[in-house]
Amino acid sequence: MFAEIAVGLPIDKTFHYSIPARLETQATVGKRVWVPFGPKRVVGYIVGFAQVSDITGIKDIEGVIDDEPVLGEEMLALTRWISGYYFCSWGEAIENALPAGIRKGRTEMLQRKGREEKIYEPSFDLKLVSQQKDALQPILEALEKSLHETFLLFGITASGKTEVYLQAISFALKQGKSSIVLVPEISLTPQATERFKSRFGDQVSVIHSRLSEGMRFREWQRAKEGSARVVIGPRSALFAPVKNPGLFILDEEHETSYKQEDSPRYHARDVAIKRAGLNNAPVILGSATPSMESYYNAVQGNYKLIRLTERILKRQLPKVRIVDMKREISRRKKVVAFSLLLQEEINKAITKKKQVILFLNRRGFSTHLDCKRCGFVMKCKKCESVLVYHADLGKLTCHYCNKKVDVPKICPSCESAYMKFFGLGTQKVESELHRIFPQARIARMDTDATSRRGSHETILDDFRDGKTDILIGTQMIAKGLDYPQVTLVGVVMADTSLNVPDFRASERTFDLLTQVAGRAGRGDEPSGVIVQTYAPKHYAILSASMHDYEGFYGREIKTRRLLGFPPYYRLTKFTFRAAKSDKARQAAEDLAKRLRSVNGIKVV
Ligand code: ADP
Ligand code: ZN
Ligand code: ZN
Repeated sequence: MFAEIAVGLPIDKTFHYSIPARLETQATVGKRVWVPFGPKRVVGYIVGFAQVSDITGIKDIEGVIDDEPVLGEEMLALTRWISGYYFCSWGEAIENALPAGIRKGRTEMLQRKGREEKIYEPSFDLKLVSQQKDALQPILEALEKSLHETFLLFGITASGKTEVYLQAISFALKQGKSSIVLVPEISLTPQATERFKSRFGDQVSVIHSRLSEGMRFREWQRAKEGSARVVIGPRSALFAPVKNPGLFILDEEHETSYKQEDSPRYHARDVAIKRAGLNNAPVILGSATPSMESYYNAVQGNYKLIRLTERILKRQLPKVRIVDMKREISRRKKVVAFSLLLQEEINKAITKKKQVILFLNRRGFSTHLDCKRCGFVMKCKKCESVLVYHADLGKLTCHYCNKKVDVPKICPSCESAYMKFFGLGTQKVESELHRIFPQARIARMDTDATSRRGSHETILDDFRDGKTDILIGTQMIAKGLDYPQVTLVGVVMADTSLNVPDFRASERTFDLLTQVAGRAGRGDEPSGVIVQTYAPKHYAILSASMHDYEGFYGREIKTRRLLGFPPYYRLTKFTFRAAKSDKARQAAEDLAKRLRSVNGIKVV
């Protein structure tokens, strides 16, 4: 008998190895083994057995690593599906589903003693409002009957979606089922995890990017043993080997971070639905701004649509005002970061001891450096992306590869001395604010300000405790924050996400604006949102300002159909890499030619 082994290499097949007599009883499906592979020895995964093999010169398995399989039937089926659907090898799909320590062949990992686990005050199920009850009912029914159904929980910001998740999880636990809750990494705030830990205590396992390899290994084991029954984390948490998975939840299902950008290029939404299907489990997709794909699926009847249309305690959605920055600039005859209206409202809010959130989806100081004479723009030599000025470093930085470059005094192209900074980043907004409101306490939250461990929490804690008046931030602050003292949200420049070459640019803009606006109006005070833009008539901005999802969807879905984009068409991107660009181009053209001959495929 031969063992069929998958290895984590981009080779689209499994390999046969023979099983020496001494390993016969140990070698079972789902275990890791050491196998010789070319000149090396690698970790492989037993995925099956074969009675015969037409391969010659079959080598022996060198050792079996595990006493217990690391992969169950379910994970094998899921990873196999991933490899077929997303074009990667089975071994790559397996390794993607396992923590790094396991991939390296470890069986246990030393871990430094972590920080003291915080103890949370226990909390209990809230009495649901009637919309929440109606939302929960069909979910509980699906859980009760172990039905694989996908629910799109479309609820406006602060409508009580999270409480619905919590009570669904609670019901699943009573049935002896585990739950997996996916959240975008940036919304995995201490505030959010507290709600789960205070409700479910030690059964909760939170997985985030700052966990050490050892901690991840430990959490993975806790899930496998069955002591962690509610796993919360970003995309990768989807593969937690929980016992008896019975409920899958994707919060903010429209978030782009659910798509993995390298191989396997999976989308957590689709994989969650697949995994739930293997377990006869329901899926909840929650969002205040569902993705076009999901809403389309709901309209088509593939998903069940559940709506929460009111905020808890009937709090009003904030009033949104749009400021046309083109007019502002022509009236004031200079380029400004803040319109008079925004400035005035900030002043009012801080005078009343209220708090302000200012959103700008672009970090750094100025966005780019141009030559006034020849129009030359400073770009990264490697990535071709426009370099952004960071005042604290005094350097231009590439936001893709992180390369830092000195600011040239003369234009590298025409040698004139007219290099000028343009555009606006969060750092510049911060310095402008200090100038205009010297007494205000201002904090900035973006990846530059939070690269230090724990600084993320400190900034938010200070804001929550009222030690900060104005919080400036990138999309890191767009989600999940729930601070009742905030009465004003300002969007400094709404167009930044509109002017990118992506068919989802309008959708992204609508989402961001809706989410950001949702940070206001969480207290008893009336509150407002001011959106500054150069495109005040754009439908994404207009619909967001009117809190009109359907209006946006109706307009956008027509565009998608007209231009041949998802959800009407499937889009596949092929990337070619070669040492010489000619070679890559040739290969791309060859494939394009072959694809064009197939009916129904459009190649661009
Ligand atoms: P969402 O997830 O839709 O943004 P949340 O679940 O966070 O909404 O609810 C918003 C706020 O309302 C939270 O502070 C939450 O504790 C509170 N809340 C939710 N449901 C109820 C309820 N049934 N009764 C009282 N307060 C509630
Ligand atoms: Zn670069
Ligand atoms: Zn020049």
